[in-house]
Amino acid sequence: MISIDARFDALAASYLDEMKMLAKRAGNGHFDELSAGRLSRRQYANKQFKLAWNTMQASFLLGGGALEHGLARSYLRRMRKILKASAVALAGDLFNGRYESGGLDARLTLWVYTVAGAYQRGMLIGFPLARFVWKLGKTEVHCRTCLFYRNQRKFGWEWLLLEGQGILPQGRGLECEGWQCDCKLKRVRRRR
Ligand SMILES: [Zn+2]
Repeated sequence: MISIDARFDALAASYLDEMKMLAKRAGNGHFDELSAGRLSRRQYANKQFKLAWNTMQASFLLGGGALEHGLARSYLRRMRKILKASAVALAGDLFNGRYESGGLDARLTLWVYTVAGAYQRGMLIGFPLARFVWKLGKTEVHCRTCLFYRNQRKFGWEWLLLEGQGILPQGRGLECEGWQCDCKLKRVRRRR
């Protein structure tokens, strides 16, 4: 699980819990027993989307972002679309029984990575003049984009220029398209 700082980690943990609970209410894709009040596929997709979207905005703000910022608006608009399509795809897989023998938790963890991306973009928008270094995540395999940026240091505003191409941790412009990326930008504290 990706870890950034205490505030983000707490948000991420409760997000993951809530997603698991939601999947349970949808029956985790199991239809072998009747349960009253179970979410339909469509209800599940809607709730998963709303949860993800709310958490993404919260995460962005927590990182230091401001919603009125021009870059924030275009980034969040793009992410909203992705989350919506992803929620529909997840609901489809869940209800088709893809996770009957496990694997759902790993898939939901990928949703947490996406929210980590929002936190870091918030951070860059909030602190454009601070310097940040790209730290590789703990995944065993890294895509070439991440390897290229490993340990590179740039100002927040410089990283934001790359955001337009989706090149930031968890970004769509990475060779791996970001879903498996648990890299992070870490603020560089100046030594005295
Ligand atoms: Zn990465």
